[in-house]
Amino acid sequence: MSYEGPVQDLIEEFGRLPGVGPKSAQRLAFHLLTMDAADAERMAKAILAVKERVRFCARCFNVSEFEECRICRDSRRDSTVLCVVEEPRDVMAIEKTAEFQGRYHVLGGAISPIDGIGPDQLHIKELVARVGSEEVTELVLATNPNIEGEATASYLARLLKSMGVRVSRIASGLPVGGDLEYADEVTLGRAFSGRREV
Ligand SMILES: [Zn+2]
Repeated sequence: MSYEGPVQDLIEEFGRLPGVGPKSAQRLAFHLLTMDAADAERMAKAILAVKERVRFCARCFNVSEFEECRICRDSRRDSTVLCVVEEPRDVMAIEKTAEFQGRYHVLGGAISPIDGIGPDQLHIKELVARVGSEEVTELVLATNPNIEGEATASYLARLLKSMGVRVSRIASGLPVGGDLEYADEVTLGRAFSGRREV
């Protein structure tokens, strides 16, 4: 059984989102039905704006409204240290700890042979190019503490140490198998300040 027209469409759209099952999709759709028209319009505009205006930073692949992201454009950030993460949301998680004043490089995922993701599918050659052309002296590998994240970190350590930069890995203490973005700020902050050279 399904609802009529637009309500059913909306339920199906919500159902496509990650982590939203049929029941939640239905609850969200009916919540929208009871919202003020102005609130619903603001939400719809935010969805359109994110598709029209947001792109990836040409330098670090973080999300950005401009050619380069806010962090790359900020001259107060230390450009000698690069923190390497899997996803833009990891940048946000680390920024919240206020432990890091350097810049970032977003890989766009982690090495995962099962999913057909090798080094060439990630922004690794761009990272190598940055290490070669920018004033980078230290890399902090902050990929997720799971199998794919560890494999990616060891691959990068081998690749980049030969370029004469110091390479460190954020400390353990993060829940193993977890995602960086789910670690609380204190734990992630500690993992950061306790990073060890690899
Ligand atoms: Zn950037």
